[in-house]
Amino acid sequence: MKLFKTLFATALILLSGAAFSANIQVQAVSQHVHILSGKDYGTNIGLFDTPDGLVLIDPMPGEPYLAELEKTIQTIYRKPVTHIINTHAHADHTGGNAFFASRGAQLVTGAINRFDITHRVVKSHTGTDNIYYYKPGNIIFVGDVFDTSWHPTFYAGGVAGFNLAIETILSLGDEQSLVVPGHGEAANKTSLRAFRQNPLDWVNMVRTLSKQGLSVEQIMADKRAVELVARFNPQGKSPFLPSKAYERFVQRTLQVIEHELL
Ligand SMILES: [Zn+2]
Repeated sequence: MKLFKTLFATALILLSGAAFSANIQVQAVSQHVHILSGKDYGTNIGLFDTPDGLVLIDPMPGEPYLAELEKTIQTIYRKPVTHIINTHAHADHTGGNAFFASRGAQLVTGAINRFDITHRVVKSHTGTDNIYYYKPGNIIFVGDVFDTSWHPTFYAGGVAGFNLAIETILSLGDEQSLVVPGHGEAANKTSLRAFRQNPLDWVNMVRTLSKQGLSVEQIMADKRAVELVARFNPQGKSPFLPSKAYERFVQRTLQVIEHELL
């Protein structure tokens, strides 16, 4: 019953979210925490109403929707964003920084020891991946270290960096913590653990096939590879991985394997 009530409340909030804006999806996690998402990129944008200000994470709903994002935030809290933080430097996460800075928000970089946020830095998806745990909302924003809508991208940290990043996330909060990926649906630690196993299996498989002398094209066509790619797509998105992106994923995995052998 409690679950039903929660789902119903979420549905109501999503419905009212639709009234805010046609292109910005709104998910109320609690009175003080929202996850917003724009039509382009599907980047998960965090919004924390803290005693030290209204903090916005990764404000990029797509260039044409920045004003709509601002209006949506205004509708929710009736006050302006005071601070911006980013999970990492990619444009689909930082693209709205200048827009909100021009309206008076302050971009906060480096170590963060305020807003009730526990901040950890890891190296997996990029050289600097910021993990933000907001205790009052029991929510962890992890950027593209974790993605529920795409294959894993561990190119900066390799397998070791990826493992350390996942361990770091698991060490924050508790089993009830909401784990918010850079893109795709918000998840929990159980799905994060499942996600962790996939790239390890993937790298081992690509290594084995490559040692057997298979080319990139042959690896892509191998049944084991195709089956593993399906595991990266728990939401059953179709089409999921265009062949160019699939090819690049295999090539970059081979680079990671080579690098770690050195
Ligand atoms: Zn990224």
